[in-house]
Amino acid sequence: MRSRMFSFVTKTWNPVVGCMHNCVYCWARQLANTKLRETERYRNGFTPQLIKKELNVTFRNGDFVFVCDMGDLFGNWVPSDWIYKVLNVIGALKFTDFLLLTKNPQRYMSYPIPTNCILGATIESDQNYQSVSDAPLQFDRLYFMLKLAEAKRHKLFISIEPILDFNLELFANMLIRIRPWAVAIGYDNYGCGLPEPSLAKTMKLIEKLENANITVYRKTLREKTAVKRLEKVTNVEAA
Ligand code: SF4
Repeated sequence: MRSRMFSFVTKTWNPVVGCMHNCVYCWARQLANTKLRETERYRNGFTPQLIKKELNVTFRNGDFVFVCDMGDLFGNWVPSDWIYKVLNVIGALKFTDFLLLTKNPQRYMSYPIPTNCILGATIESDQNYQSVSDAPLQFDRLYFMLKLAEAKRHKLFISIEPILDFNLELFANMLIRIRPWAVAIGYDNYGCGLPEPSLAKTMKLIEKLENANITVYRKTLREKTAVKRLEKVTNVEAA
């Protein structure tokens, strides 16, 4: 399946599904608990599981595969055994590129990740918003992406989606120090009423990144909407 999230991706692949970060804006959990609930894979909603038959997939040389857009492969709840199984498949497909994306980039450091992977992190802001998610704090994610940048072993990618209000100078400087292969920036598409920056401020961030020769993929860019009271989903099976 082609990714709805990134135009540069040619395929999505979900050998592990489900997630326990409980982001208030999670479209994947919503999908798993509603439209996909009757399918075998999501019979238990968004409860994390390894989909063994997905480990037999093959991809074409030149494909760019987004790994786990229906979960977080590097969430702390994922058994190492599952991660090694997925990395072994990736390592054997040397002429295919894979995009990993997590809200827990610290865990990348614990595994021998093949060099045909781009290590991605979703980081909505440089400021910490505990009310939107149970994931590691946004600034901690930035910190570990900086450590990965210093290690210089992989290309890096940062998804700032859905973007949350940020400190312009600090966020831009951290991103420029990380020097990712690319950044994708977009506002929430699901009417969650998140604490968003103004469009003018986001455009200034994009300008700073592009002036530093960082590729920016523009997703939904619009004026901010009114903030709602945010409630985290604590039951991974609840819609
Ligand atoms: S990290 Fe958040 S948005 Fe992504 S799958 Fe997990 S709960 Fe959903």
